[in-house]
Amino acid sequence: MYKIQKKILLLGGTTEASNFTKNAVNQDKFNIFFSLAGVTKNPVLPPQVQIRIGGFGGMIKMAEWIKNHHIDAIIDATHPFAQQITRNAYHAAQITNTAFLRLGRPAWVKENGDIWCEVNSPQDAVTALGQYPKNVFVTIGRKELLTFKECKIPHHYWIRSVDRPEDIYIPDNAQLIQAKGPFSEADEIAFLKQYQIDYIISKNSGGKTVYAKISAARKLHIPVILIRRPSMEPMPCMYTWQEAYQWALNI
Ligand code: NAP
Repeated sequence: MYKIQKKILLLGGTTEASNFTKNAVNQDKFNIFFSLAGVTKNPVLPPQVQIRIGGFGGMIKMAEWIKNHHIDAIIDATHPFAQQITRNAYHAAQITNTAFLRLGRPAWVKENGDIWCEVNSPQDAVTALGQYPKNVFVTIGRKELLTFKECKIPHHYWIRSVDRPEDIYIPDNAQLIQAKGPFSEADEIAFLKQYQIDYIISKNSGGKTVYAKISAARKLHIPVILIRRPSMEPMPCMYTWQEAYQWALNI
């Protein structure tokens, strides 16, 4: 018998997106278009979904794409700092009258023993390092590394990345370590000790996948300069793939 499957545009690039997709395809209820920015080389692609890679060309083009593909719902499961795509998707959903859900993750909350300095931007994080050279583990994503060009203090930066980024700026006084997570707390403790890290700069990405560096820092009494999340307009949001799945069943 011919089955009518709802069409979902899933904006991915995160563990939440992969978890939703992995579980939803097993149920065979949806036709999923899985979309990635195309930043990561050789990304792990979920099976049994239609893949599209690369930007849409802005909100209006995204809205056209949604119409042309007869999309019933958009689930935005991109990174909490991926502001632009989230805004575009939310507004494209309104323009096309398509159901929209943000599948996000709660921000990390300070615990006993954490030494955090919370700032609003990578620029502020560099300022917060102070006047004396430090050995800094920077885990903020490749785009923001340009910020470190302006820094006149000779800190030493350790940058961990899955790929060797060819098209982005790496500060002169930085060393790139190629490694692919997930990293356990024990891995992170060993890493922080090996490179004698005395400061960490991180985004408040939230979730469990990359939390180990934060709990490792707590154990080793290493200060973390934590970049707050960008503020976003209010939009419907859920935090687990199960809730998102139920939501999608009811659209
Ligand atoms: P962004 O600034 O919100 O997106 C920039 C543009 O990339 C978007 O306007 C869109 O282009 C395209 N794009 C982004 N995600 C897409 C997707 N899933 N499918 C199709 N096109 C997509 O986000 P970003 O550049 O990805 O990242 C911004 C920050 O988030 C960085 O700090 C990064 O470290 C962090 N981050 C993001 C992700 C992620 O899942 N995207 C993962 C890890 C970390 P068009 O306007 O042309 O449509």
